Amino acid sequence: MIRLSSFSKLHVLRKATCLLTPFSGMIHATFKGLMLIFFLTGTLEAQNLRVGAAVRVITPNPLLPVSGGIGIPHPVTEKRGDLFARAMVFEQGAERFAIVNVDNLGWTSVLGNRSRAKIKGIRPENILIGATHTHSAPDAYGFPDASGKNYADLGYLDWCVEQIAAAVNEASANLQPATLKVAMGEAQGKIAYNYYAPSLYDPRCGIIQALASSGPRAGKPIATLVNYAVHPEVLGNSRGILSPDLIGPMYQKIESTIGGVALFMNGAQGGMVTADTRLNYVKEGEQQKEANTWEECIRIGELLAVEAMRIVDKAPILKNPTIYCTARKLEFPIDSEIMRYILQKSPLKYEVTKENFVTTQLNLLNIGPAQILTVPGEALPNVGYYVKRNMNTNMPFLFGLTNDAFGYMLAKVDFNSFKRYDYITQTSLGEMTAEIYMEQAIKLVKESPKPQDQ
Ligand SMILES: [Zn+2]
Repeated sequence: MIRLSSFSKLHVLRKATCLLTPFSGMIHATFKGLMLIFFLTGTLEAQNLRVGAAVRVITPNPLLPVSGGIGIPHPVTEKRGDLFARAMVFEQGAERFAIVNVDNLGWTSVLGNRSRAKIKGIRPENILIGATHTHSAPDAYGFPDASGKNYADLGYLDWCVEQIAAAVNEASANLQPATLKVAMGEAQGKIAYNYYAPSLYDPRCGIIQALASSGPRAGKPIATLVNYAVHPEVLGNSRGILSPDLIGPMYQKIESTIGGVALFMNGAQGGMVTADTRLNYVKEGEQQKEANTWEECIRIGELLAVEAMRIVDKAPILKNPTIYCTARKLEFPIDSEIMRYILQKSPLKYEVTKENFVTTQLNLLNIGPAQILTVPGEALPNVGYYVKRNMNTNMPFLFGLTNDAFGYMLAKVDFNSFKRYDYITQTSLGEMTAEIYMEQAIKLVKESPKPQDQ
């Protein structure tokens, strides 16, 4: 009915315009003028998008014990690759935001906010800080043991806070006119699988690449951000090695092949999407042989890099992409006794606004046709799929372990269900964590502008 009536109105209007021939010329001229203004604005916007990137090494010297989760960190005798803080800053008109990745198991807002306070020219809520989730880096939580003692090196963490802020400030200082390529596709080959149920994982790999639009490096990458869900735990924490794990070779392969800075943001890799290091394919309960070597980190990291570069290669160049960034506060009850104990005993002094609740930052970004939501922990792959299909794009990115990393995030029906889920249930804030997240994340999607069409 509505369509019919508006059609007839249009029809009438067209007739009227035909009758008013002297005015139609004016209308056309105005229309042409508007088009010209639109075209000029479009051109100006293209010049307006600027992107910068920078990196800082955060490898401790001397080396420090490494942590793969709750418990006493393991001593190390050697390193394989360096740990980094990597930053990418976007600017368009008054909008400016930063995406940072840190080679660590998790980077809490206690530390992130201290870096935010040292970053110039970007509002704290527009700074996203995510952890790669390597299991071979120093403890950044201050995990207490049974007696309440912790082993975190606070001096090292202070230095990392400085390095992260320095990386973002340098990326801001390096801002240059840029175009974008945004792509998403399935990463092929032996990269990830679900340790609990092999095919229950998300093979989509999202890439955001900024290209210099002028200067001597015109057309070349300023930065390439890879978003993929996987546990970088090929080496783990018990081999006496400090390492970015498979993410290190991924950075290196991208940077040596196409130049610019490589970044990695993890996805919904909880329970239990991990690196595919399987040497044989055994039945449930049988002994799985795995390759837990640095060579395997190189194989998987380089394969992920090659796949990411293949996926982004054919993407069209977006000359006039629009960007958008918004943030909300999220609050979660801490139902888990273990998590309460960690937060109470940690020397990092978590800010508690309400007893047995934690507050964190949830971000939504639109970058050209892509939409990004942050996840403050390790969401299970089904939680990831659900949120992604409720996003306003066919290129949904989830930045896992970003702005906080509060352990696993399971749907309430998964919580305390399979025996397999005992561990992830215990290392989760509670039954409602993922439910609250899904509800609030989708609400934010509904209340935010849609990303531009592809
Ligand atoms: Zn994990």
